Amino acid sequence: MKLLIANGHLIDPLTNQNSGKNLLIEDGKVVAWLNQNESAPEEAEVFDATGLIVAPGFIDLHVHLREPGQEHKETIASGCAAAVAGGFTSVCPMPNTSPINDNAAITRYMIEQARTAGLANVFPVGAITKSSDGAELAEMGEMKAAGAVAVSDDGRPVPNAGMMRRAMEYARDFDLPVVDHCEDKSLSSGGVMHEGKLSLLLGLKGMPALAEDLDAVRDIILAKETGAHFHIAHVSTKGAVEAVRRAKNEGINVTCEVTPHHFTLIDKAVEGYDTNTKMSPPLRSEEHLEAILEAIKDGTIDAIATDHAPHHADEKALEYDRAPFGITGLETAVGLAFNELVHKGVIDLARLIELCASNPAKIFNLKERGTLKVGSIADVTIIDPNLEWTYRNADSKSKSKNSPFDNWNFTGAAFATIVGGKIVYRR
Ligand SMILES: [Zn+2]
Ligand SMILES: [Zn+2]
Repeated sequence: MKLLIANGHLIDPLTNQNSGKNLLIEDGKVVAWLNQNESAPEEAEVFDATGLIVAPGFIDLHVHLREPGQEHKETIASGCAAAVAGGFTSVCPMPNTSPINDNAAITRYMIEQARTAGLANVFPVGAITKSSDGAELAEMGEMKAAGAVAVSDDGRPVPNAGMMRRAMEYARDFDLPVVDHCEDKSLSSGGVMHEGKLSLLLGLKGMPALAEDLDAVRDIILAKETGAHFHIAHVSTKGAVEAVRRAKNEGINVTCEVTPHHFTLIDKAVEGYDTNTKMSPPLRSEEHLEAILEAIKDGTIDAIATDHAPHHADEKALEYDRAPFGITGLETAVGLAFNELVHKGVIDLARLIELCASNPAKIFNLKERGTLKVGSIADVTIIDPNLEWTYRNADSKSKSKNSPFDNWNFTGAAFATIVGGKIVYRR
């Protein structure tokens, strides 16, 4: 029942902790921080974390677990296995299952499936509107009571400002953040990649940055008007991050997340027509990537979220125009964050942990998580910042293998994942 994580370097941004400490866990909770010269309590199992970083469990605010309805792509169990292998102790599945998670019964079902799997925690995101068709508000209060932590119509963003205003007022009253996939489809519909020089050259229909910018600005104004907490999903454009920066300076309650692929790749990756470079929002051009990195650095971006979107190989095998949007991401996120952000000096380790754990817990109000302070739930991500490894789709725990990062080399990985005091993954 007792687990001592010994000899590690403990980083807990919420309490400004950044030094060597032993972490004592009992009955699923953090019960003490011990100095490293103190002897281990008797009957404690010892995990030797020499040379490793001990961090609060990583929380992914944005995944697609496909269950119920599309279990050939992913199940809650297989998605949770991929999550813990990638260092995530908690994941928040979007509601675009089949049927849509727009009611308490489906929310409860998802949580129950996760409990049975016994790997990661699942905190579902409920739909904003019934069937996510933008016409009628879903029962947010009932979903919240069943365990939903936010609302979103991800992928089918609420097109109508009047409906979004009502949704924000309603969600505000239940203290639920409103997550929007910002895309004005009147500008982007039919597009398959970022609109720019390259889309012309490749003969593919473009999705302009403008479509994201406009919707982000609309929602920021609505958040100001309603007082709701508005969270931008997978922000990808210069205009949207600039809007968030201004809004934060004005004191508007807005937060945003970025995906690893949007801080790593640009539209140039589409040149080979690999359908694993097709996602929404699309990979943008260099100037947008630079704006994203700047926003990660200066705190405008609050969280890293994967938008893990499994698709079966047969579906991704279609021509570029017809293939579905989305890539898997749970098992490559930490490696990409180390390669592109930490080792390149964009951010330090404490900021990485803030982006992956402390801030996500705050954004979705996950109590007693996102920190390792005494009394909190013992969700822990143990990191080896120097481990060299290669990601291979064939080895993925996900049912789907649609990652563009197959055979990429990384320095830095999740070494072990502990959920509720139990070691659920060890490299
Ligand atoms: Zn989306
Ligand atoms: Zn998504």
